[in-house]
Amino acid sequence: MKIHQRAILVDTHNDVLSNVQINHEDIGKLQTDGQLDLVRAKQGGLDCQVFSIWCGPQYGKGTAFKFANREIDSLYSLINRYPDRITLVRNSAELKKAVADHKLAAMIGVEGGHMIEDRMDYIDSLHKRGMCYLTLTWNNSTSWATSAYDEKFRYDSLDHHGLTEYGKQIVHHLNDLGVMIDLSHPSEKTFYDVLAITNKPVIASHSCAYALNPHQRNLKDDQLKALAKNGGVVFVNFYSGFVDSTYAKKADAFRLKHKAALDSLTKVYNDEDLADDRIYAMYKAEAESMRPPLSLLIKHIDYIAKLIGVDHVGIGSDFDGAESYPKGMDDVTDYPKITAALLRLGYSEKDIDKILGGNFIRVLKANTGK
Ligand SMILES: [Zn+2]
Repeated sequence: MKIHQRAILVDTHNDVLSNVQINHEDIGKLQTDGQLDLVRAKQGGLDCQVFSIWCGPQYGKGTAFKFANREIDSLYSLINRYPDRITLVRNSAELKKAVADHKLAAMIGVEGGHMIEDRMDYIDSLHKRGMCYLTLTWNNSTSWATSAYDEKFRYDSLDHHGLTEYGKQIVHHLNDLGVMIDLSHPSEKTFYDVLAITNKPVIASHSCAYALNPHQRNLKDDQLKALAKNGGVVFVNFYSGFVDSTYAKKADAFRLKHKAALDSLTKVYNDEDLADDRIYAMYKAEAESMRPPLSLLIKHIDYIAKLIGVDHVGIGSDFDGAESYPKGMDDVTDYPKITAALLRLGYSEKDIDKILGGNFIRVLKANTGK
């Protein structure tokens, strides 16, 4: 716990702002659901959180950029309400100052290129408001970059693969601004197209190792090696479906079993994800039994560290963005369990510092220049 509290802990991916927007939660106060609020963040030793700005593919030209800005507004209003506990930071110097001031360093990651609506000036606007990374695509492709989801499930319907010429201009522009390029959702082709031209280290903000679970959102060994060669970092996702190769089958069977309830709740909420969350809450024992052991999450961190080096792995929980996490990983107060597990595996204090936050700070500085 001493080692954990002293280290700077950075989590590169949390979706709580979507809940704040939908449910008008005040995460400055202790919440009974979800994974993050300012009270629990303190208990878990969390020093810096990159808040994901996200909207679904139903938002497009004329609406997606606006939606992204409304989410950023909700983060700004949280910071305005609790200025002594949370502050917006844009680079590693500001991050370290926030930590010294005992405030949660809040950063902004925009999860999906569709939110720039094919406009270079929208990248500038989002950068001015604090965007530290842009995930080039979410599950939906853009006109300039294809996603892992589409390359796997909609390959023939795509009119291009990887980055287009305009996509390459966007990469150069992000490099020039010092906005980190996030390759967690883009396709393998986009991944390598970016690595061929970027002049800054990239990140994968919330992905796991494909070798341990062959899911399109996880990175293959060759991708991990290429990422390390670029000086980049992969931040390991906690979602059961990415951690555990047996989870998807169990979850499918669970949803099929409770299909009637799921369908009627979907009608009530007019929202599939909300209905899904309710089903998981209603059938708690069954949901609990589907959670993988915490050791499997640690295995992803250990696998990546052993394959490409301890300088290239970190933590990107995807908390507040998924319906299931490994056993014992209930919310942000459980981060110390990762530190304890790494110590048990023989990781040194110095290595743990890198995994918990040092690697993020290095790659951030390499992008922003400070
Ligand atoms: Zn995501």
